[in-house]
Amino acid sequence: MKHTLVILTLLFITYGCKKNDSNEVKNKELPRIAIAGLAIESSTFSPALTHEEAFHARVGEDVFSYYPFLSPDSLNRKRAEWIPTIKGHALPGGTVTREAYESLVTKTLDMLKKNTPYDGLFFDIHGAMSVVGLDDPEGDFMIRIREVIGKKTIISTSMDLHGNVSKRLAQNTDLITCYRLAPHEDALESKKRTVDNLLDRIESGKGKPKYKAWIPIPILLPGEMTSTRIEPGRSLYAKVAPATFKKGVIDAGIWIGYAWADEPRNHAVVMVTGDDKNIVTNTAESLANSFWDVRSEFEFVAPTTTFKECIERAITSDKHPFMISDMGDNPTAGGAGDVTWTLAKILARPEFKSSNGPSLIYASIPGPSFVEKAIKIGVDGTIEASAGADIDNRFSPPVKLLGTIEAIEYGDKHAEIEVVVKVGSVHVIVTKKRKPYHKEIDFTRLGLNPRKTDIVVVKIGYLVPELYSMRADWLMALTPGGVDQDLNRLGYKRINRPMFPLDKNMNRPNLEAQLISSSNTIIIE
Ligand SMILES: [Zn+2]
Repeated sequence: MKHTLVILTLLFITYGCKKNDSNEVKNKELPRIAIAGLAIESSTFSPALTHEEAFHARVGEDVFSYYPFLSPDSLNRKRAEWIPTIKGHALPGGTVTREAYESLVTKTLDMLKKNTPYDGLFFDIHGAMSVVGLDDPEGDFMIRIREVIGKKTIISTSMDLHGNVSKRLAQNTDLITCYRLAPHEDALESKKRTVDNLLDRIESGKGKPKYKAWIPIPILLPGEMTSTRIEPGRSLYAKVAPATFKKGVIDAGIWIGYAWADEPRNHAVVMVTGDDKNIVTNTAESLANSFWDVRSEFEFVAPTTTFKECIERAITSDKHPFMISDMGDNPTAGGAGDVTWTLAKILARPEFKSSNGPSLIYASIPGPSFVEKAIKIGVDGTIEASAGADIDNRFSPPVKLLGTIEAIEYGDKHAEIEVVVKVGSVHVIVTKKRKPYHKEIDFTRLGLNPRKTDIVVVKIGYLVPELYSMRADWLMALTPGGVDQDLNRLGYKRINRPMFPLDKNMNRPNLEAQLISSSNTIIIE
């Protein structure tokens, strides 16, 4: 009992002393970890360009708001002295301008310079950013970060499984992981794991992993074929977590890669980090072979066909709402979002010419000048103006809409202003800026009722959960655009060949693990 009291007293004194120390002294005991990153997936097959404001960059303390696991009272927040710099996250879109990229990178580097040295860096990226005139932007960004923070700092990189892992990204990072679910319901869990791994390696003194196995896999598939909700994606990705439980493995990931950019880095990758050479190597090879073995089993998550067949089946179906994904210009995958091809095809059909034809909602088409004109006319007024094809007019010109204005709504974060115009039996949503329609409330706040509508056509890929649960039937349409799901139509020039499924009869590739040199050594090109 006496001993216990003495120990308790000592503990109290120690704890009390620590508490009374100045922050400076306290912080010296904690590892110093910086946070930085830019996230976007951008299509090089779209004429759209992405500018700096699209990243909605958060700076300094505001960066924490992305990460609930780093909230002020969280355990992880207390385990380090955090130095957040800049974190930007943009809706998928077209290629990022060089000016936007340079500006965001320079600002990040300037902030990093002010607080060196760092024990760690939490690098939070998507991995499918395309920048005008620059290959592998994330790899470039990381090298420039290394030039500021040096080679000693442990970098832990968090990625989307639709990102690309170039060899130089693999070399210059130390820890790396990606999501294991698509749709990405585990995004935050994955980012937390990135941070947990970093803290564990710093606190335990184990430091950088001894081995990083990297295997490029010559497979390039669209996200709409690789959902982990269905086979073979489900079983393939189910192998990842158990692989990381092996002694000697820190983390493992399977990257599907991004299909709508045309660079040598666009392909699938497996990467495993750890301290046991054999286990790290074998684990990576086992995952890579598992992926290769099921490559031919990937199919679109819903029946997929031409738009003509989709709309004809929807018109004759007795299941409503009949949903059609207008996939080729899906703004959530990187399409410009203003391709008018599908809408023009709908409006040209005789079934929708009169107001008592089958009801159809089209979501959506950007048309800033249309919106301006609609505001001047007002709700219930008749409007005749064009919308769409400001950015991507390769497949169809601006579409003329003659109809009644049913609603004008202000304040949406993405669309800013939304107008509903009824043309024949079609309710067309025209927006000031492009916006993906994912939720029921996106429709109901405009006075539309998708549940009571015969046909709902959405610029989207696979249906997000709310639309999925609402659908009576669903088809995915192979429409043209910057994120055309028919990869054969894209005309790649720079990806590695042969590539599955573009080169159907290719031989089995070499899937041996490549051990990537440590970030302590040279920075490769
Ligand atoms: Zn993704």
